Amino acid sequence: MPVHLVERMQPFATTIFAEMSALAVRTEAINLGQGFPDTDGPASLLDDAVAAIRSGANQYPPGIGVPELRRAISEHQQRFYGLDVDPDSEVLVTAGATEAIAATILALAGNQDEVVTFEPYYDSYAASIALAGATRRTVVLRRPDFSFDRAELAAAFGDRTRLVLLNSPHNPTGKVFTRAELELVAELATEHDAIVVTDEVYEHLAFDGVEHVPVATLPGMAERTVTISSAAKTFSVTGWKIGWLHAPAEITSAVRAVKQFLTYVNGAPFQPAVARALGLPAEFFATLAADLQAKRDVLSNGLREAGFAVFPSSGTYFVIADAAPLGFDDGMQLCLRLPELAGVAAVPVSVLCDDQQAARSLVRFAFCKRDDVLADAVERLAKLSRR
Ligand code: PMP
Ligand code: GLN
Repeated sequence: MPVHLVERMQPFATTIFAEMSALAVRTEAINLGQGFPDTDGPASLLDDAVAAIRSGANQYPPGIGVPELRRAISEHQQRFYGLDVDPDSEVLVTAGATEAIAATILALAGNQDEVVTFEPYYDSYAASIALAGATRRTVVLRRPDFSFDRAELAAAFGDRTRLVLLNSPHNPTGKVFTRAELELVAELATEHDAIVVTDEVYEHLAFDGVEHVPVATLPGMAERTVTISSAAKTFSVTGWKIGWLHAPAEITSAVRAVKQFLTYVNGAPFQPAVARALGLPAEFFATLAADLQAKRDVLSNGLREAGFAVFPSSGTYFVIADAAPLGFDDGMQLCLRLPELAGVAAVPVSVLCDDQQAARSLVRFAFCKRDDVLADAVERLAKLSRR
């Protein structure tokens, strides 16, 4: 542990995704740990970024993002969800959803404040809350359907609650929050005058016809919701780090005040390219989800055949499997040994939890990989059942 790291960040010295990716590289295992696709996004998007570089979009873009991207985000929200968003005062382009999350929490929650979130949580949530000096209050999403207890959620709210931070479709469980669940969150947030921060980076990755409901579309919620998304998953460009948020103007300018001192701006040539991609025909978005749904099925079936208990995933890049039926009651120990046992890397869910018992034997696998890679991984995992 580096002795110079401030105390509040010491629990976050390395991310589990970086750790397991490094293990995969070292052992030449198939990396089903960190969630990133192994194929490129649409050719038109890549060509547009190259053209933008060639045409000189290489200096600082405007602090709030280039106008064409802010307009495209506004049009996207109208087209898919019927939301009215003013591109000039209510949109902020960020260095990935990661910066949108960090800047929002730093802007809106301080010392003494509490942030309600669900667990397992995306690791940057806990780190960003810690950076802000705020306190997290978590509510466990429980197996088998990763639903939550109404009373437990209500009990997480208090006088100090400033924010509710949620993610749907949800990493790592693949849960898509139902309208009724979101209404309950909305009701409690309103009652406690809290702002809802909703991470919708997997908005276009919902399967089986399950509907993704943006919190901002619920009655009365647009005025107290920060909606966050990103080009990373929708266009398979996780390395580009183009994210955004939209919220009422006052909230957006508060977040902008923080964001300008984190990265100031980023990704000048990628911004116009993403702007055009947001306008791709409906068929593009439908095909993306259908392809991933098929990959989910391949990996889920393979994991089941290997002896895991597999929980249904309705969205994202991820599926959760319980290693207990294979005789592993500790997911972390299994993930450290999985490259050697089966030539595959995965991520233990317990590191994304405060309640260590709730997810002790659970492991997250990513299925956003080429079909041949998934087939190879499934074949390798079958070794586990033959041990
Ligand atoms: N939120 C969630 C739930 C994620 O899984 C990720 C990971 N990619 C992010 C945010 C970060 O997105 P970005 O790469 O745009 O920063
Ligand atoms: N979002 C990716 C995942 O959950 C990882 C991104 C990262 O490594 N920070 O796997």
